[in-house]
Amino acid sequence: MIPFNKPHLTGKEVHYIYEAVHSGKISGNGIFTKKCHDFFTSTYGFTKTLMTSSCTDALEMSSLLMDIQPGDEIILPTFTFVSTANAFVLRGAKLVFVDSLATEPNMNVELIEGLITSKTKAIVVVHYAGVACDMDVVMNIAKKYQLFVVEDAAQAISSYYKDKPLGGIGDFGAFSFHETKNIISGEGGLLAINNSDYCNRSEIIWEKGTNRSAFFRGETDKYGWVDVGSSFLPSEIISAFLYAQLENVAEIQAKRLEIWNTYYNTLSPLAEHKKLRLPYIPAYATNNAHMFYVICNSLEERTALIDYLKAHNILAVFHYLSLHKSPYFSDKHDGRSMDYADQYAETLVRLPLFYDLSTEDQEFICTKILSFYSEKI
Ligand SMILES: *Cc1c(COP(=O)(O)O)cnc(C)c1O
Repeated sequence: MIPFNKPHLTGKEVHYIYEAVHSGKISGNGIFTKKCHDFFTSTYGFTKTLMTSSCTDALEMSSLLMDIQPGDEIILPTFTFVSTANAFVLRGAKLVFVDSLATEPNMNVELIEGLITSKTKAIVVVHYAGVACDMDVVMNIAKKYQLFVVEDAAQAISSYYKDKPLGGIGDFGAFSFHETKNIISGEGGLLAINNSDYCNRSEIIWEKGTNRSAFFRGETDKYGWVDVGSSFLPSEIISAFLYAQLENVAEIQAKRLEIWNTYYNTLSPLAEHKKLRLPYIPAYATNNAHMFYVICNSLEERTALIDYLKAHNILAVFHYLSLHKSPYFSDKHDGRSMDYADQYAETLVRLPLFYDLSTEDQEFICTKILSFYSEKI
């Protein structure tokens, strides 16, 4: 079976874990955590970064930093992962969902302004497949109404909006290093704090509501409980693994892009004949090749394609179901329809894309997709 995803090791992961273990300190905020923080601030210019145990944790930290209270409203896409929503629901926020674009699964930012009320606190954007949302529009609305902007950049490492790195544009950016992402540490994440008013407090929330980080830097002579918080920092073992990946980020991205381009070029005749649709990348966005998807003409066609590929030992998978229709949320939704998101939920299918996907396997996948559509006629 050709899997949908396979974690790629660069070679130094276990070596760095060995180093971390033998340094005698394996809890969080040690040498490798600092190396990772330095990598992110120097490579992407983020003001401050904090490693977390997941992107979910990073989003929850942003929710605490913004002091989200029961009744506060959060505007976010419906076509996303549950963590984008849960982080704010946990603090009692009311979710106001936004539909996707006709051209691509990202949220339609033109709909945001009409949804703002006196209770709106933040706009949460998701850069689906690592492709940027139109951030100038989002940032202008946020400025006009004095709202926070959180970027769920879980899939968006090393991807850009114009010349700005994703995750570095809003007040906060949240990244994931789950094994299904481009750069991995098993489970893992990062919060980028771009609004410098929140740098100090982010460190306190990160360390269980204590000023431990400042204390160890010698900035305060007392170490105590000063605010709310939780244990968001990962162990050195996670950061050691991640650092080996970060050292190879350029190579990993280049290889993924090569695979992505092969899919795009090989399948483009199908798109020209309107058999299916291929990903659309707006001119303001770069492509970090997080994902390669195709969009079928109907749910029936997608099911048939997935089954056909499975019968040939290829695992292709669909993606999100619109959150406004989920069992948890459907009775809380305000009733607006989200037709494009529902359409992606029914027709989008993701193809295998991982560093170690061989040329032969990729050729085989493409051949099978082409033959599925030629047999169908
Ligand atoms: C993967 C993902 C997350 C969750 O990341 P974790 O690190 O598993 O918590 C959140 N949002 C989006 C858009 C994702 O793709």
